[in-house]
Amino acid sequence: MNDLQKKIYDRFVRYASIETTSDSTSSTIPTSTTQLAFGKMLAQEMKELGVSRVEIDKNGFVFGEIPSNVSDKVPAVGFLAHMDTVEDFCGKNVRPVIHHNYQGGNLVINEEKKMYLTPQSAPRLLKCIGHDIVTADGNTLLGGDDKIGIALVMTLAEYLLAHPQIKHGPVKISFTIDEETGTGIGYFNIERFGADFAYTVDGSELGNIDCGNFNADKFVISIIGKNCHPGVAKNFMANPVRIAADIVSSWPENKLPETTEAEEGFILFNEVEGHLDEATLRGIVRHHELEQFEQFKKDLIQIVEEKKAKYPNAKINLEIIKQYRNMRQVLKEKPLAMEVLEKSLKDENIDYRLTQARGGTDGAQLSLRGLPTPNIFASYENPHGPYEWLSLQWSEKIFNLLVRIVENTAKK
Ligand SMILES: [Zn+2]
Repeated sequence: MNDLQKKIYDRFVRYASIETTSDSTSSTIPTSTTQLAFGKMLAQEMKELGVSRVEIDKNGFVFGEIPSNVSDKVPAVGFLAHMDTVEDFCGKNVRPVIHHNYQGGNLVINEEKKMYLTPQSAPRLLKCIGHDIVTADGNTLLGGDDKIGIALVMTLAEYLLAHPQIKHGPVKISFTIDEETGTGIGYFNIERFGADFAYTVDGSELGNIDCGNFNADKFVISIIGKNCHPGVAKNFMANPVRIAADIVSSWPENKLPETTEAEEGFILFNEVEGHLDEATLRGIVRHHELEQFEQFKKDLIQIVEEKKAKYPNAKINLEIIKQYRNMRQVLKEKPLAMEVLEKSLKDENIDYRLTQARGGTDGAQLSLRGLPTPNIFASYENPHGPYEWLSLQWSEKIFNLLVRIVENTAKK
C-alpha cells in the first residue's frame, strides 16, 4: 500500500466504523441522528485541515470550500458524497478487513459463516489481481456506498491545501444526508453550496458515469365496485379485486422490471389493497426516453378506459403523479460538467461508459434544480449487503481523476 492509498484507507476505516444508517420510516431531517453526529465529526476534520467556510446547516448538510488560487475568474466545481448507509442491512459496528495483494480465487469474508467472495459471484475481482481489497467481516455491510466517496473527497481537500502549486478555482465540498431514502437532497441548499457544476462521487462500477436517469411518475388507480350477495350477483356485481387483477395482467409482460434492462422502461404495479367494495392499485412508470415515457402513460390510460367499458357497474379512476425527470437534457444544455469530466477521464486513461441510471440519483434532482451534477463511480461493488467490497488501487485512480477534474476546471 502506498502513502496515498493508506491515507484513503485509514480515513475510510474511521468513517465506516461510525453508524449512519438512514431510516425511511422516520420523518425527521435527517432521518437518523447518527448522521448529524457524523457530520459534526467531518466538519471538525475539515476545519483542522484548513478548509474554508465550514458549516453544518440546520438539516445536517456539511459544507466547505477551498478558495481559488488563480487570479482569473474560473468556474466553481463541487463534489458531493452522502453520509448515510442503507437500512437494508446492518450498518453498526462495521469492521473493514483488508486483504492485501489479491491473487485470484476465493476471498474469505467470514470463515465461520462460510461467506466468500468468488470470481463467479463477483467477476470484476479478476480485474483486481495484485490489489488490496477491502470487505466487511460478514456481520455488516461495508458502507463503501458512500463512505469511500467521502474519504476520497476529504483526501482531495487535504491534498489541494497541501499542494498550492496545483492551480484551481473555487472547490466546493458537501457531505449530504439521506441519499438512500431519497428524501435528503430536496433540502440541499444549492445557493449556499455555490458551485457552477458538481459531481456526486457515488457510483459503483469503475468507469461508469451516470449522466442520465429515468423519467419517473407514479400512479394510483382507485376502483369502486358494486357488491351484493354472490348468489344473486349475475349482471350486477362489479368486483374491484378482479378488476384490479385484470388491469395488472393487461399490461404487456415485456414492459415490466423483471423483463427489462439498460434503457428499457417499465411499469411496476407495486401495491394492491382492496375487497368487494373497493380496491386501490398503485404503481410507478419509468423510462429514460421522454416520448416513450409519455406513451407508456397513454397505454396505461387506454387500458383503464377499456376496463371502464368492460365493467360499467364499477367506477374506475386513474391518477398520475409527477415524480422526477431525466437529467440528460440538463447536462446537454449546460455541457461544462460533462466536458470537464470526459476530458479528465481521457487524461487519466480511464475507460469509461456513459450510462443511464435505472433509478434516480441525488445528482439528477440537483441537475433538474439547476446544478448540473453527473455521478462519478466511487467503485464500491455489491453495495447494500455483506458482500460489498472495494479496491484501494481503484480508489487511488478515482482520487487522481478528482484532482484532474479540479485542474481541468481551472483551464475553462
Ligand atoms: Zn450511494
